[in-house]
Amino acid sequence: MTMSETAPTIPVLTKVVATIGPGSQSPETVRRLIEAGVSIFRFNFSHGDFAAHESRLDTVRQVAAELDRPIACLGDLQGPKIRIGKVDPPGVLVSPGQAVVFRNDLSIARVDQTPAGPVAVFPTTYPPIVDEVRPGHKVLINDGAVRMLAIPPEAGGELRCTVTVGGIVTSGKGINLPQTAVSAPAITDRDWECVAWAVENQLDFLALSFVRTADEVLELKSRIATMCPINRSADLRGESSTIPVIAKIEMPQAVENIQAIVQAADGIMVARGDLGVEMDIARVPVVQKELIAAAHDWGKPVIVATQMLESMIENPAPTRAEASDVANAVFDGADAVMLSAETATGKWPVVTVETMRRIAAAAEERIASLASTHEAPTQLIKSKYQTAALAHGAWQIARDVGARAVVCWSQAGGTARYLSQNDFDVPIIAYSSSLRACRRMAILRGVIAVHSRAPDGPAPLAEWNTQSDRFLLARGLAKEGDAVVILCGRPLGIAKAVNLVAIHRVGSDESGLRTHKHTER
Ligand code: ATP
Ligand code: MG
Ligand code: MG
Repeated sequence: MTMSETAPTIPVLTKVVATIGPGSQSPETVRRLIEAGVSIFRFNFSHGDFAAHESRLDTVRQVAAELDRPIACLGDLQGPKIRIGKVDPPGVLVSPGQAVVFRNDLSIARVDQTPAGPVAVFPTTYPPIVDEVRPGHKVLINDGAVRMLAIPPEAGGELRCTVTVGGIVTSGKGINLPQTAVSAPAITDRDWECVAWAVENQLDFLALSFVRTADEVLELKSRIATMCPINRSADLRGESSTIPVIAKIEMPQAVENIQAIVQAADGIMVARGDLGVEMDIARVPVVQKELIAAAHDWGKPVIVATQMLESMIENPAPTRAEASDVANAVFDGADAVMLSAETATGKWPVVTVETMRRIAAAAEERIASLASTHEAPTQLIKSKYQTAALAHGAWQIARDVGARAVVCWSQAGGTARYLSQNDFDVPIIAYSSSLRACRRMAILRGVIAVHSRAPDGPAPLAEWNTQSDRFLLARGLAKEGDAVVILCGRPLGIAKAVNLVAIHRVGSDESGLRTHKHTER
């Protein structure tokens, strides 16, 4: 079985987010990842310096331009995450029963030989750890893969633990302290440096880790806003320079406050790595469904993340359980599914993305074959009801006429977002003359953004219609005579409410869009 034999021919609606890292940063791999279906690259500020991020960003932007794809870049702010300091490769193996010590006075991990056996000593990124963790507290490394219990210290300035579940500890692995009251601020100085870098480099999304309250999201958003000049006419052209914020839900407090957080954020991420250690892992699958439902209620996009195809870090095929996990995220209604170490450091980044897309395609086929249980978002703000209502109407029309696609002009991405929320079984082709707006649509389920100049001839609608027909035919998304639903506001190229919905047959004049030259504007 080769990949090309099994590659989906129908467009996959679920988006794939891939973390870029040492295993995927070459221009050739980035190109193959995009061709395999990645629409967002995640830059994890937890690993690597700005020079490394900058060169990766240059690579992604350049390859995306060459392929003419509006690929988005998401910066992931680590928040108050505590990490292991430097460890020489290949890492330090710790075994159950062994003593482990955390200290602030060393720069690299070492193993001390003592009469009682080897003692692993690690530096961390959070000096107060030696004072704040009390005997009896859990100390969990690498999303809980390696586990220890704190015991009384034997010397000053140390945190001493006994290993309960062993494993290899490598540089920069996360440390979770679910029982400890940690004093670190929600957004650290390092995070603010990363925010400044993201604004300067025009990243398309910022994700905030360890969110507990909506206020933390609002604080980040208002700080971003102060860094970005307000320019109403740029906003109307879809070129807003502020950066949408994705709240990573990985703390029990965030689950409790989910309604307010979703309302404040521009989207959420179900960050199962830390969620699975900060709360009972048995509840994670249920919480995933609840979080996705909350995002749907508020009409916000949602990414499901962590360990989706974890075994593919090493192997060219996933486990059955991982395949089911990806499919179930699609069934739950995720807009996007994410890869972390699988693409950042894994051996098979391209095969992993192809596998993820094949699983998503099969799940989507199943969804399309079922009777629809579609429900529109319930929490939209009033002023948006018109666009939302037209998008909902478009969904009904598309079903009734068996449309192969929905085509919209969505200058700032709003129409595309409302359409996406309606869970179409067919792709939504969204045009904008703003590349920034196109890149922000990369997160929306089912949306294929097309960056294009706004038609300005004597019959702009007709011009656009001809252009979009050509796009549908060239991409194999529709054939001559297929029905598509068209949505736009006029004039094209300005962000405004949708006021035209039409049924169009590809390659024909049937909608009348091409003949109404005089009434268009
Ligand atoms: P987060 O809590 O934000 O998920 P993480 O440390 O778990 O942070 P992931 O992006 O989930 O990081 O990736 C999982 C693992 O892959 C990391 O622990 C790290 O070992 C490796 N990794 C990820 N990105 C990079 C990178 N840019 N450079 C080096 N290693 C990386
Ligand atoms: Mg992780
Ligand atoms: Mg995390």
